[in-house]
Amino acid sequence: MTLLSAQTSVVLPDPVAIVDAFHEHFNEHMTMTREGQAVHFEADYGNGTLSAEEGRFAARINCVSENVLLSVKAMVAEHIVEFTGDTSLDFRWEGHGSDLRELPNLFVGRVVRSYNLTPRMRRVVFAVDNGIERLAAGGLHVRLLILPDQTRTPVWPHLSKTGAIVWAKGEDEQARRVYTIRAINKERAEVDIDFVMHEGDNMPGAHFGATAAVGDIVGIVGPGGERPEADHYVFAGDETALPVMLRMVAEMPAGKTVTVYAEVDNEGEQQDVRSNADLSWNWLYRRGQPAGTAGLLQQALRQHSWEKQDGLHVFVGCEKDEARAIKKVLADEAGLAKKAFVAAGYWVRGANDDH
Ligand SMILES: Cc1cc2nc3c(=O)[nH]c(=O)nc-3n(C[C@H](O)[C@H](O)[C@H](O)COP(=O)(O)OP(=O)(O)OC[C@H]3O[C@@H](n4cnc5c(N)ncnc54)[C@H](O)[C@@H]3O)c2cc1C
Repeated sequence: MTLLSAQTSVVLPDPVAIVDAFHEHFNEHMTMTREGQAVHFEADYGNGTLSAEEGRFAARINCVSENVLLSVKAMVAEHIVEFTGDTSLDFRWEGHGSDLRELPNLFVGRVVRSYNLTPRMRRVVFAVDNGIERLAAGGLHVRLLILPDQTRTPVWPHLSKTGAIVWAKGEDEQARRVYTIRAINKERAEVDIDFVMHEGDNMPGAHFGATAAVGDIVGIVGPGGERPEADHYVFAGDETALPVMLRMVAEMPAGKTVTVYAEVDNEGEQQDVRSNADLSWNWLYRRGQPAGTAGLLQQALRQHSWEKQDGLHVFVGCEKDEARAIKKVLADEAGLAKKAFVAAGYWVRGANDDH
């Protein structure tokens, strides 16, 4: 596979401390190998080296696509600023996409209709006038940019020369929330996004889903999130991960085996499940307990038989603390290798999830 590459370097007072900070911060999320003053990382989407060289911090990265390269460059740039605390640092990227200032993965979605799938899951269908092919070709989820006011002209983000994304501020600031593209209709240039109508205060994502009117606009940044290849899968998630689990099983070819544990409040939240794979779908019911507290996913994964680990991939999406606890179950109790599973915090109990 051809990888797209970019590199940068910046003079810093203590570049080794920044390599250390990256190592510590990202070790949990990808395979990292330390070699003296350098750390190499390896992930499904690419690889790279972060190093301290003659008073400079240097980053060299190689990624599978332009969107991923852009995100990794932004992530590196934003963390250099976070770790040094210096917002005035001046550096530039060389290599692929170094002259880009507009976000190539920003699309505009216009609401064409919305309706409830279940009492707590509402579908919003967006028309995407430009770029539906690119939106369909990539990963499974996107970042929605929710405008503060539909009557103002949107001020969309752009790229600084450091690779960081410059977001609109003040009255134009947009709430950023991650959602799954549940389905794409390329002929009609439409995408379906399913919003959980969860409890809570001040929740721009759920509020947008509940109130979206025909003609309302959102920014759509993405897509991201790769789908690891495997022979058999185990998926577990609450209703925020229901769209991605339903999409993944719907798109899975015959010959694969999948076991799914899907936590929802009650039977009224079930949706039709379609798949060509050999599928065992298990609904788990919280029955009024607050989301993220029932422990049903953890319990189901503890009881799952983990005998067949060859060619296995496990995906979990749920509340952040729950995901952390489940990671331990998968690694320590089920004995799964780090590469065999992803347990992602899809939302944070008691906090806004601005990405
Ligand atoms: C990769 C990925 C894909 C996702 N896909 C989807 C999707 O397709 N559909 C979807 O609805 N969500 C999805 N989510 C989850 C969604 O991003 C979060 O639920 C997000 O917090 C919603 O933003 P909000 O503005 O409604 O609430 P926030 O402003 O983030 O939070 C406000 C309050 O609501 C609470 N809250 C947030 N989510 C929930 C919940 N699910 N249950 C109970 N309380 C909650 C928070 O704890 C907080 O107290 C996804 C997340 C990720 C990371």
